[in-house]
Order: sequence, then C-alpha cells, then structure tokens
Amino acid sequence: MMKVLVINCGSSSLKYQVLEMEAETLLCKGLVERIGLEGSVLKHEKVGMDRYTMKAPMKDHKEAIAHVLETLVHETYGVATGMDEIGAVGHRVVHAGEKYASSVRITDDVIQALQDCVSLAPLHNPPNLLGIAACQELMPGTPMVGVFDTAFHQTMLPEYYIYAIPYEYYTQYGVRRYGFHGTSHRYVSERAAVMLGKDVSEVKVITCHLGNGASITAIDGGRVIDTSMGFTPLEGLVMGTRCGDIDPAIIDFICQKEGLTIAEVNNILNKKSGVLGISGVSSDFRDIEEAATHGNERAELALKIYANKVKFYIGAYMAELNGADAIVFTAGLGENGILMRKMICNGLENLGVSLCPKRNEARGQEKDLSTDESPVRILLIPTNEELMIAKDTYEIITN
Ligand code: ADP
Repeated sequence: MMKVLVINCGSSSLKYQVLEMEAETLLCKGLVERIGLEGSVLKHEKVGMDRYTMKAPMKDHKEAIAHVLETLVHETYGVATGMDEIGAVGHRVVHAGEKYASSVRITDDVIQALQDCVSLAPLHNPPNLLGIAACQELMPGTPMVGVFDTAFHQTMLPEYYIYAIPYEYYTQYGVRRYGFHGTSHRYVSERAAVMLGKDVSEVKVITCHLGNGASITAIDGGRVIDTSMGFTPLEGLVMGTRCGDIDPAIIDFICQKEGLTIAEVNNILNKKSGVLGISGVSSDFRDIEEAATHGNERAELALKIYANKVKFYIGAYMAELNGADAIVFTAGLGENGILMRKMICNGLENLGVSLCPKRNEARGQEKDLSTDESPVRILLIPTNEELMIAKDTYEIITN
C-alpha cells in the first residue's frame, strides 16, 4: 500500500496532499501560508477530522516542509506512523519548456533542465525547485517525480505554437506558445472520455479551465491541438486579473500616456486587468455577479466580455478540431458558475451545443449538462490536479 505526498510550492505558500494509491483515496490535505514572513501558519485537514492549525516561524520552504512532514506522522492528525510509509513525492512544477512532454522521475539532470526554464517562469519555477530541494534534504532516498503544467501541451504542432514574429526569437530564446494548466486539462479530458464511454484516443474535447487563471484547450485523441495560454499565462481568455489577448501595441501606448515602464504595464496587465479591470469591483465572479444583479453596468459588461471570449475560443477550437464530442467546464468558475456557463453556451445551438437549463443547475460534481438532443455533450467535471500528480508519481515509481 503506497502513500504518495503531492507538493505544490508557491513563493510564500505551499499546498500538499497525501493519497493512498491502491484505492486512490485522499488521506489528508493542507496548506502552509506566509512562508518567510511574519505569522507563518500550517492548516492541515485529515479526512473526516477537524482542521488542525499550527503556528510557528517558518523562514523558508525547508522549514515549512519539515513541519508538514511532522504533521503527517502526528499521533492524532497524522496519516502515517513513520516517514517510510510515504513511498514517493510528486511535485507540481510549472515550466519544463520543450524538455518534457510527460512527468519524469526527478534526477540531477531534470533539476538542471528546470533551472534552465527559470527565465521562462521566473515567479513559479524557483519556488517549485525550492520545494524539490527541501524534500530531497528532508526525505533522502524517497523517490520524487516532477509533473509539469506545460507537459501535456507539448504535443502541439509548430503551426499552432509558433508566433508570427521573427523566427529567431523562437530558436534563440524559446519564444513560442507553451500553454499551462496542462495537468488539469489532461485530467478532465480523460474523465470526459470515461463519461462518454469511449477511449481517450477516440474523442475530441474542448476543455475550459475557468479558475482565477483560465485557459481552454482543444484535444483530439489525447493530443493537444491548441491551447489559449501562450508564452506566459497572460495570453488567451479574459481572467480574474489578467487581460488575456490584447493588441500588443497597447503596451507602448499606455507607457507613454501614463509615464510607466514596460514592467509596470506588464504588472497591470497581470494583476489589475481582466474582469477586475473591467468591472472595478472584484476579480471574484461571485462579487461581480452580485454587483451585476444590483445594476452595476460595468460588472455586467465584465461578465459579457468574459463569456464572449470563452465562446470565441470554443468556436475557434470547433473549427480547428473539425467538430467536437464534448465541451468540458472545470475549475472554480467552470464548476460553480451556473450563470456563466449559461452565458457561454447561449447561442451555440447551431454549432450543436445545447445546454439544458435544468441540468445546468449543478455544482462540483461530474454531470452531463446538455440536452438529450445536443450532438456536442456539455460536461461538468471537477478538476483534480493532485490526483493526476499522484497517479503519475505512482506509475513512474512502480514501473
Ligand atoms: P485557482 O485558479 O486559484 O485554483 P479556482 O479554480 O479556485 O482558482 O477558481 C476561483 C474562481 O472561481 C473565482 O474567480 C471565483 O469567483 C470562482 N467561483 C468559485 N465559486 C463560485 C460560485 N459559486 N459562483 C461563481 N463563481 C465561483
């Protein structure tokens, strides 16, 4: 019976889960916040028990992970009697560039390759690497696997990932579309095939991951044809605070008008744009919907613009796939946004996409939301990146 620890390190936080792999059941999950800051805290939930909160100074990721490991063997809240029960660790890593098209066992070469990708993901890869280093120190001998956000999208062909800028920027600097949320898109596309009663190799699906970050992917037979995030997670759909696709000439224009640097405008496009920028209300769709129902016109506009962009990509991907078997909604908004799903699917009937208003009244459970007649099925599938990471880890370690 193998237990797998899944680790997802951010710059000042980390999330973890432990899963038992024979039955693929979750044993516990937790979160450490404010790593390296005043007031570090660990919040741990063992399945079926109350939350356990522990406050202690944690000056870096190694101290944070040391506390996580202690908690995992805690006599009341723990899920193992000793660390030897944790058979492997799966690490979520954002960027693996063009190096890895699937998950791999972590070796020195892998770490070097991920370090080489730091300039492509300067905010994400460094904390991911810190998490790996800390686990290697604290759990010597425990095998580790890297699961990459970019990996699933590596099946894209150059005609989909090359930008129309001088080709040398690709060959010299690796400027191309990479795509993100790959683990989520892969998980829900596999679940979609199960729900359709077919093999992954037989289905064409469009997966909409609508969370704080959002991306949409066209998948044919388990291979990614196209995805909306690009060189960075800024491209594509409108997001909570990110602008998605815009005319790149806007950047210089705003720099001049506002006397800002490119880096400052870049920050605005990442953190102050999207539905927050349009509405001026919030990046959270619950707040925006609330404001819109109370007559806030910009909130209503933000919802319309968001829905239109998703619809735009669904249309594009229907064309690229030459038709689809299913559209999948996942992540916070995709799983819970009844109104947003309705707005997105409204007016797609002539493309064979017909949402059943009654079935659409659902949240957070696997469910077919389309009418009986709809040629394209509309599927609600809660994502589970941690399970995907644990499964990859288990498979790689046991084979
Ligand atoms: P992250 O990308 O941080 O993992 P999530 O997948 O948790 O994000 O998605 C967060 C988003 O989901 C938020 O913008 C929030 O507005 C939206 N969301 C969550 N619950 C609901 C709900 N009940 N109705 C509408 N939107 C929701």
